[in-house]
Amino acid sequence: LRLTQLESELHYALEHGEFELYYQPIIALSTNQLSGFEALIRWKNPKRGFISPIEFIPLAEDTGLIVAVGDWVMKEACYQLQTWMRQFPEASHLKMSINLASHQIREPDLLDKLDSILAQTGIDGSSIRLEITESTLMDQGEQTIKKLSQLRARNIQLSIDDFGQGYSSLSYLHRFPINILKIDRAFVNQMSDGGENIEIVRTITVLAHTLNMSVVAEGVETQQQADILKQLGCEFGQGYLFSRPLTAADAELAIAKSINLSQVS
Ligand code: C2E
Ligand code: MG
Ligand code: MG
Repeated sequence: LRLTQLESELHYALEHGEFELYYQPIIALSTNQLSGFEALIRWKNPKRGFISPIEFIPLAEDTGLIVAVGDWVMKEACYQLQTWMRQFPEASHLKMSINLASHQIREPDLLDKLDSILAQTGIDGSSIRLEITESTLMDQGEQTIKKLSQLRARNIQLSIDDFGQGYSSLSYLHRFPINILKIDRAFVNQMSDGGENIEIVRTITVLAHTLNMSVVAEGVETQQQADILKQLGCEFGQGYLFSRPLTAADAELAIAKSINLSQVS
C-alpha cells in the first residue's frame, strides 16, 4: 500500500465524514454500573471497507495528520457527551475517555482547542479523560509534565493507557499528574486461577493506589477475570464481557438502561 495514497485518502476521509466514533462502556466493578465510555475511532471507507485504527492511527501519526484527526475526535466526543447529558440529566456523572496521540500532546494549540470545546459544549473538564499511552508518557519528559499539569488545572482527568506494554521508569511515574491507570489487556487476558499474571495485576493495582490513581482493567472478557479483578481492588473494567464498542445510538440505549436499573435498585 502506497503511503502517499493512504495519506490523501485520510485527508479525504476527514473532509467527507468517513470517520465515526464508537463508544465502549467502562463499568464500575463493585456495582456493575456504567461509569463512562471510551471513544474509539472507526474508518468506513467506501472502497476499502472497514479499516482498523490499529492500521491507520500509526500512519496518521507518521504524517502528522493525527492532529486533524484528533481534533475531530475531541470535538465529536465532547458534543456527543453534551447531547447525552442534556438528554439524561441523571447521567451527568458519566466520563468520556478520549485517546490522545503523542503529537497532540506536543502540539502548542492543544489547550486552546480544549478550552474552546469545553466552552462551546458547556462540559466540565472533570467529565473528560484523556488517555495517553505509557510509551508516550515516558518518551516526552519535562515538557509533558508541564502540559499535563495545565490539563489538570482545567480538572481534565488523565489516564495512562496500555500500562505494562511500555517500559515505565517506576521511580518517574509519580511525577506525572495522572488520575487513572489502565492495565493493558495482555495481563488481564492471561489471568487464570493461580496464574502469575494475577500477581502482576495485583502489584500494578497496589502501585496505582499508592500513587493515588484508580485502575481500569482493559480487555475483560470473562466473568472469572472480572471477579478476580474486583478482588484485587481494581475499580473499573472495560471489555467484551460488558460490551463491545457501540455505535452512538446503541450507547444511548445503554445509558437509558443503566439509568432505569439504578432507579429500580
Ligand atoms: P486502546 O486505546 O487501548 O483501546 C482499546 C482497544 O481494545 C479497542 O480497540 C477496543 O475495541 C479493544 N477492546 C476492548 N475490549 C476488548 C476485549 O475484551 N478484548 C479484546 N481483544 N479487545 C478489546 P480498537 O477500537 O481497535 O482501537 C485500537 C487502538 O487504536 C486503541 O487502543 C488506540 O490506541 C487507537 N485508537 C482508537 N481510537 C483512537 C482515537 O480516536 N485516537 C487515537 N489517537 N488513537 C485511537
Ligand atoms: Mg485507550
Ligand atoms: Mg488501551
